[in-house]
Amino acid sequence: MTHNILVVEDEAKIASFVQKGLSEEGYHVDWAQDGRAGLEMALTGTAAGRPWDLIVLDIMLPDLDGLDVCRQLRAKGRQVPIIFLTARDGVNDKVLGLDLGADDYLTKPFAFEEFLARCRSLIRKAEQRADTSLRLSDLILDTKQRRVERAGQVIDLSTKEFALLQFLMENSGKVLSRMEISEKVWDIHFDTTTNVIDVHINRLRKKIDHGFDLKLIQTVRGSGYTLGQE
Ligand code: CA
Repeated sequence: MTHNILVVEDEAKIASFVQKGLSEEGYHVDWAQDGRAGLEMALTGTAAGRPWDLIVLDIMLPDLDGLDVCRQLRAKGRQVPIIFLTARDGVNDKVLGLDLGADDYLTKPFAFEEFLARCRSLIRKAEQRADTSLRLSDLILDTKQRRVERAGQVIDLSTKEFALLQFLMENSGKVLSRMEISEKVWDIHFDTTTNVIDVHINRLRKKIDHGFDLKLIQTVRGSGYTLGQE
């Protein structure tokens, strides 16, 4: 299936370079020349009425800047992946862009291969999110119905336990530090004086692994936790 990408960029040279390169890779690409047109096209989808799979967004744009376009899309609940492409390389812009809900950021000039790889990765991640079930062995987490079961038995989890398990499942096989877990699941910077993560992991362990021979939640001493078989 062809993926649809919207490029919002006021510099015709860059827009045509990006559009041409992406088209050669088999993407369907449309171009908006300013922020207001970009926002409108982002909201309405392609001319054929299909949703965008990715938006490539410049920051310095006439009418409405890229940060505002991103902010308004997210405020309207649009989850489409957004990658900022911009000449500005200030750290503050990066932080601002990502805080506003952009998914990635590249500074011009950039290597087209790297840009392509990032586009592919963002589209793939979004598609994975769209498939609402996460599975590991006999453990299934349905993000849409917010339901967890193991070996066919439904398991009741608190909101935080659910979020924690979802994060572990989305990264199964990877070792996650307490810092990553606290930032992603609790949205706070990790405080080494608290054992909130360990307490939640232990509760989750009781619910997920207790009574099963195969333990899915593993402690990696000195590093953190991982979900998967030992
Ligand atoms: Ca620009």
